[in-house]
Amino acid sequence: MSGKPIAPGGTVGILGGGQLGRMLASAAAEMGLHTHIYCPDENAPAAEVAAQYTRAEYEDEAALTRFAESVDAVTYEFENVPAETARILSAHGIVRPGPLALATAQDRIVEKNFMQANGILTAPFADITDEASLRNAVENIGTPSVLKTRRFGYDGKGQAKIMAPEDAIAAWDEIGRAPAILEGFVSFEREISVIVARGENGETAAYDPVENIHKNHILDRTLAPAALPEAVAGEACAIAARIAAELDYVGVMGVEMFLLPEAGAEQRLLVNEIAPRVHNSGHWTMDACAVGQFEQHMRAVCGWPLGHPQRHSDAVMTNLIGDEADGWKKLAAEPGTAIHLYGKAEARPGRKMGHATKLYPLGKRPPVTSS
Ligand code: AMP
Repeated sequence: MSGKPIAPGGTVGILGGGQLGRMLASAAAEMGLHTHIYCPDENAPAAEVAAQYTRAEYEDEAALTRFAESVDAVTYEFENVPAETARILSAHGIVRPGPLALATAQDRIVEKNFMQANGILTAPFADITDEASLRNAVENIGTPSVLKTRRFGYDGKGQAKIMAPEDAIAAWDEIGRAPAILEGFVSFEREISVIVARGENGETAAYDPVENIHKNHILDRTLAPAALPEAVAGEACAIAARIAAELDYVGVMGVEMFLLPEAGAEQRLLVNEIAPRVHNSGHWTMDACAVGQFEQHMRAVCGWPLGHPQRHSDAVMTNLIGDEADGWKKLAAEPGTAIHLYGKAEARPGRKMGHATKLYPLGKRPPVTSS
């Protein structure tokens, strides 16, 4: 495609059928594009707002080939796309973001090594392959520390905190003795993230850094913008843009960071992890910016100019988890609040059912700090 954009009327394939795929498909429709969802699940929230839906396994080569041939480009809404799936799809055409971003984000050790190689600060870490490497790492890094599976972790799953060296083996048992990373526990002041987009011509656009508040290891609220000194906010955006450039990234990416207490601007930010896709902490952009993250991602994937990431309002985004979505009627009566529900039939505990974004005039966001 290089140089030739996917014009309105074209079709973008999306791997994954969850809420992120749904919001990508809706944004694409607003741009005059069609979408084709590919996922193994029935009742995929994305399927009902897309032109086409293939329900098949990620290992089904024949179905993947038919899917790839029906679209102008493929993107995805989750990072655990099997490498072989990405390879099959790439053989038929464009997959954005590309294989380097996927491989880097799928493995916490590869991700941390990538950061280190690019001079980006992270928590101290070590590769855990057996009991000896675990003992060694706990001795070097100290406690408290966090043991995480190298792959397939999300929302705090596949993680165990180690409070004292003698707990290390039990922690590894807890995560199934999977290949792991040990990370020093960071006493951060706050958690922030940057949603950055990079176009195929290398231009980048970062939304303002936001603060994220978690409840039960799941994102509860995003405060936009994060209250940060200008130099720190600028540095956070610069780090995100540098990561995108080094990965030769095309699309929208979420970069999660820990903000350390007082230090120089360049010493206060540690990168926790990257998400090579649109991100929950970017949902506020749908309502508080002229071009939200979903449209921005589609613009990048299709080779369109990126939208300006400036916000016209401050915002607080609240996730509606499980039966919290039952409060839709009350939320709908709140002035200045946009509601987004994902059309999921069953409100299981911990399941993201929707989100609500309350807008405030610029500079007037209330200082929410805890739940
Ligand atoms: P992750 O899956 O890596 O995003 O971790 C989920 C959450 O656990 C983060 O948002 C933090 O709140 C916490 N966490 C993860 N790693 C660390 C760490 N090295 N130090 C302190 N807290 C952490």
